[in-house]
Amino acid sequence: MKISLVALTAFVFGMFILSTNTLAKPDNVDGFNVPSGRVPQEIKDNRYPRTYYPNTEKLGKAEMRITALGTGMPNQSPSNVAASFLVELGNGESFLFDLGTGATDRLAGLEADYSKLDKVFASHLHTDHVGDVAALWVGGWLGGRYTPLHVYGPSGATPELGTKVHIDHIRAAWAWDVTSRAGTLPNAGGEIVAHEFDFSKTAVIYDQNGVKVTSFPAIHIRDGSVSFRLDWNGLSFVFGGDSVPIKWFAKEAKGADVVVHECFFTPEQWMDISGFPYKQAYWVTSQIHTPPEAFGKLMSEVKPRMAVAYHYWNHRDIELDIFKGVRKTYDGPLTMSDDLTVINLTKDNIEVREVTFNHESWPQGTNKEWDTAPRGEPATGLSSDWLIKGKIEGLVPPPTQPLD
Ligand SMILES: [Zn+2]
Ligand SMILES: [Zn+2]
Repeated sequence: MKISLVALTAFVFGMFILSTNTLAKPDNVDGFNVPSGRVPQEIKDNRYPRTYYPNTEKLGKAEMRITALGTGMPNQSPSNVAASFLVELGNGESFLFDLGTGATDRLAGLEADYSKLDKVFASHLHTDHVGDVAALWVGGWLGGRYTPLHVYGPSGATPELGTKVHIDHIRAAWAWDVTSRAGTLPNAGGEIVAHEFDFSKTAVIYDQNGVKVTSFPAIHIRDGSVSFRLDWNGLSFVFGGDSVPIKWFAKEAKGADVVVHECFFTPEQWMDISGFPYKQAYWVTSQIHTPPEAFGKLMSEVKPRMAVAYHYWNHRDIELDIFKGVRKTYDGPLTMSDDLTVINLTKDNIEVREVTFNHESWPQGTNKEWDTAPRGEPATGLSSDWLIKGKIEGLVPPPTQPLD
């Protein structure tokens, strides 16, 4: 068999690419870890590419990038996971608003810098808003976070229904997991810290480095649901958790730049797609959520630079009907957000696009701080003696480097 020189060269070159990719560490560009070899470009004169490819654009110093990670329902689909919005600021900080089930898949696709993802603002404790907190706690720790994960969330009617107890239970539920990893990963990254605040008050609950997050009450089935407003550098982002239209939202969101609010189904749609009887369908769509025409009326009052609707299935027929409902009562700037809708915000421009990411993407790797962060000793003595005796000796190669 003859092998041409070209084929042989291609093969050798392919092996080289494979081996360098396997060993690659991320590059640090302006304080961000990006996949090795990728050089983000500066965007000039608001001339954005039609599609956003993660880690290919430099965020301007005075710019905010908002990515809808998930915009759907608790019963998610591969194209429509549960609620979560990522806000990235030109000062290098990142904020997560809700982290519903499935949202961490999107972070992986975005090849996110996990060392930056250490803050989650939880609107309420439904799984479609916080279902992936444990996944980020552990996955992010393994992926590059060497500091604690901070979760800011509301109190409830009783202490047991508040964020602190919720996080305490997550810590307890995952004791097997987290204590088994202790010592192999950076110590501090294994911590999860709850910052519980009074759900009933309008108050600044985060104020650091020029970034202010205000919480205000929402009405959603029971006490303990809130919405948030983030202010930074003259730009504002409002994230509405689940709620019927309320006066606090109308006041706090008034005139803000990007205003995200839930936009649910009509009772008739909900009966049709979910099989609910009318009474229950009306309760769910109109007494604990906001149906399309109500979303439109609320935005007509708020008058944001960009209104963003979420919390419906992105099935085309349903989405179009919801859009038509909104347009009966609101004719201002509107984005019917889908998973991976991305919005770049500056004082003079709002750019709405879609993210395209590589479904084969792998975690990009960890940075130097993670690699050298303090660690304890790997957990030993956690398996019973009789169990250890079941080990077949001599199959695992001995260490090739000193262990101390
Ligand atoms: Zn929800
Ligand atoms: Zn909810």
